[in-house]
Amino acid sequence: MNPQYRGRLAPSPTGLLHLGHARTFWVAQERARANGGTLILRNEDIDSTRFRLEFVPQMIEDLRWFGFEWQEGPDCPDKSGLGPYNQSERRSFYTAALEKLRTGGFVYPCTCSRKDIRDAASAPNAGDDEGPIYPGTCRNKSDEWRVASDVTAAPVTSSPAIRHPSRPPNWRFRVPDGETISFTDGNFGEQKFVAGKDFGDFVVWRHDDVPAYQLACVVDDAAMQITEVVRGADLLMSTARQILLYRALGLTPPAFYHCALMLDEEGKRLAKRHDALSLRALREQGKTPESLRRDWEDG
Ligand SMILES: [Zn+2]
Repeated sequence: MNPQYRGRLAPSPTGLLHLGHARTFWVAQERARANGGTLILRNEDIDSTRFRLEFVPQMIEDLRWFGFEWQEGPDCPDKSGLGPYNQSERRSFYTAALEKLRTGGFVYPCTCSRKDIRDAASAPNAGDDEGPIYPGTCRNKSDEWRVASDVTAAPVTSSPAIRHPSRPPNWRFRVPDGETISFTDGNFGEQKFVAGKDFGDFVVWRHDDVPAYQLACVVDDAAMQITEVVRGADLLMSTARQILLYRALGLTPPAFYHCALMLDEEGKRLAKRHDALSLRALREQGKTPESLRRDWEDG
């Protein structure tokens, strides 16, 4: 038992929740319960190009139907004072963190398009969803940029672009090349990733003026005093990236517990396109949360 335990469910309202999400969230809830701790619902609605407003009430309803109970969230009174719990209302936290990273020289502006990066001959893919490893094209231009502009005064959106002057830059985190980032995962044990080899300089702030997942996640987990992050194994390598962000921001990382991903019959991981396995569809088919949980406990 650890009543100080604070865990979170962090769904994004980009589609219907499916059984794979529910399984990971269930582990998160069980771990919070076993510790007599607190569970937080954080609505990851920062990316307005992807989420749809009508999914938010649906998402909350689906979670409640399945048996999730959180003590802090967008639909609860903010007793701890650590809200708000909608990322769309937390922009000032993210801009403050970006300023800190810029002032500390941890990030640089990158004006490469996706195509520029794909076309770079030396761009192997990172072993996860982040796409090709960034070849470092804009890395060494940051000194010119730093001399040419006042880092602390310039608002993010007016930063000079370098290669495509018409477009605002992405802000990338400069990873310490060759450094092994290790952590002990609560489920998978010792993990090691080499910065600059397994993953490259990653975006923390997008050219369309939206904080990237990596930054928003770290800022919120720290501000909400999360003690253990429970999430899918697809984010194992992102944990290494995030550990670098915690360090740069002078924050202490939480513990991490990654869950194996649920696979479909073809061995592919469940995605939002598997609408038949959405909680909504399963409920409409007359399935009960108890029977669904029993299935995964057996399987
Ligand atoms: Zn670039």
